[in-house]
Amino acid sequence: MLWKFASFVGTAVATTALALVFMTLPAQQFEPANAYFQETNIYRSGLVGTRTLALTFDDGPSAHTGELLDVLAQNKVHATFFVVGSRVAFHSDIMERMMREGHVVANHSFSHARMGRRYASHPELLITQIGDSNTAIAPYVRPGQGLYFRAPYGVWRRVHAEFLNQDPALKYYVGPVYWDIGGNIAYDDEGNMRAAADWDCWSQDLTSDQCGEGYLREIRRKKGGIVLMHDIRQRSLAMVQAMLPTLVAEGYSFVTLDELREFDQYRTPLPQEVPVAARDGQHRLAAPAR
Ligand SMILES: [Zn+2]
Repeated sequence: MLWKFASFVGTAVATTALALVFMTLPAQQFEPANAYFQETNIYRSGLVGTRTLALTFDDGPSAHTGELLDVLAQNKVHATFFVVGSRVAFHSDIMERMMREGHVVANHSFSHARMGRRYASHPELLITQIGDSNTAIAPYVRPGQGLYFRAPYGVWRRVHAEFLNQDPALKYYVGPVYWDIGGNIAYDDEGNMRAAADWDCWSQDLTSDQCGEGYLREIRRKKGGIVLMHDIRQRSLAMVQAMLPTLVAEGYSFVTLDELREFDQYRTPLPQEVPVAARDGQHRLAAPAR
């Protein structure tokens, strides 16, 4: 229905378009306002102060992801991977391993698109970005695992949620998921790094030790949270390799997003048949157990 609708939306402004959607939908298709995709990033993880960390790795899979999986296995840590859908086909062995070793595979759009104003006025682009990535990751999502989405660059518009929640497959996503730790580089008055963001560390040519110290200081200050990192650079891997034994020794525990009770309020129980978006924009029903 959304597709048919999208074909004539071209000249209408987004707000008018949205009003039309609501007017043409039968009342029983409305869902509780707090379920499904959210209108803003989910900023609260409930982990700050709990000495629990949810490590998240964005933008992969890449040539470095396999080594990262080795490091996580050595430290008995499970993480959440927000993968870019277009990369998945090139690393199917790594994706298979992620799932097999207990990590959560999540959606970070198909081509790492900045989904701002243009996507608000062209909802078909939004559905394609998130739907194609959903199709790409579907074989690597364990039966019963929750679906999670993080917006590239954290860019999101309120109207996106309304469009996505009309989609029979995508409406089951929890997201967009934000982070507590790893968002930016910050220094204290003495010039010591008090917070770090791996991608920015590497663009400033900092070492993995320097960047890791920034992460550790933010983690110790907040005593837990969702940690944002990336698995597309060797230096991020070296940083995680050095940090993990320290954090384990300091008594931190590690969870995947699937274990976050704070997110229960955003979850909607999956139906018996899990709808999976197909690449052609149609939808098919897939049995939950593959
Ligand atoms: Zn990203």
